[in-house]
Amino acid sequence: MTTPATPTETIGAIYQQLSDELAAAGIEEPRLEARMLLSFAADIEQSRIIGYPEDQLAPETIAKLAEIAARRKTGEPIAYITGQKEFWSLNFKVSRETLIPRPDSETLIEAVLGELPDKNASLKLLDLGTGTGCLLLALLSELPNATGLGLDINPEACDIAQVNAEILGLTSRVTIQQGDWMTGLDGEFNIIISNPPYIIESEIAALEPDVNQFEPRLALSGGIDGLAAYRSIAAQCKAHLPPHGLLAVECGMGQVADIKEIFLNNNLMVKSIHQDIANVERCILATV
Ligand code: GLN
Repeated sequence: MTTPATPTETIGAIYQQLSDELAAAGIEEPRLEARMLLSFAADIEQSRIIGYPEDQLAPETIAKLAEIAARRKTGEPIAYITGQKEFWSLNFKVSRETLIPRPDSETLIEAVLGELPDKNASLKLLDLGTGTGCLLLALLSELPNATGLGLDINPEACDIAQVNAEILGLTSRVTIQQGDWMTGLDGEFNIIISNPPYIIESEIAALEPDVNQFEPRLALSGGIDGLAAYRSIAAQCKAHLPPHGLLAVECGMGQVADIKEIFLNNNLMVKSIHQDIANVERCILATV
């Protein structure tokens, strides 16, 4: 006979306690996050937390949960704790070496797809600063005959992008390699995409603590005016875009006018500007 669960060790009781603790720590969506952490620690579906609150949790699960809840309460993003984040309805592995994919960046995916009349075309894509690979892999998941090259200056980010390509079954169409923007790169691409670092260096400290204390500075800092990466990309991309080739970049709030000027100075034509779900101008499409 199994020992009946003491009430404090049931899923329901632990869920309630964790929600209260996260709320007290100032977490904005404590119940949602409690479910995410509990489902991760116990390796169960979130629906089980609601459906079977009287089930007992193993002591090791409770210990693991205490450890990860403590990390979350210090501000560590939940995606770094669970090692994953959803983007474009796909699940991506993340690490402290990569920026966490954000819903804002889906704007670029929608903008690029909106430019492509034939999703079955055999297009060549290039992603600069690929990180988790989320932009490139999301696009390849929608474009069955496209191939892609993802570059990142950080070899550890390249490893994560490679793992994501494997998990998503896209390795036959993807190459991930280390690269410093397009330096030393050969060949042309129909579409060049990038979510480059664009935060003004002196403003990083004022970002939310989960961003400035945990996310990689290399993926955030755009130099003294936030625009350094756009200058490199604009100067280098013409050598790699055929006529009508498309350049798509994510940008920070209020940066569109400056980026337009950089693009114009490099003889790139701005095609369209796209807003994210919060109506922030988030993505610029340009062509040669
Ligand atoms: N969107 C991120 C943020 O504001 C920054 C990402 C980037 O620099 N590319 O936190």
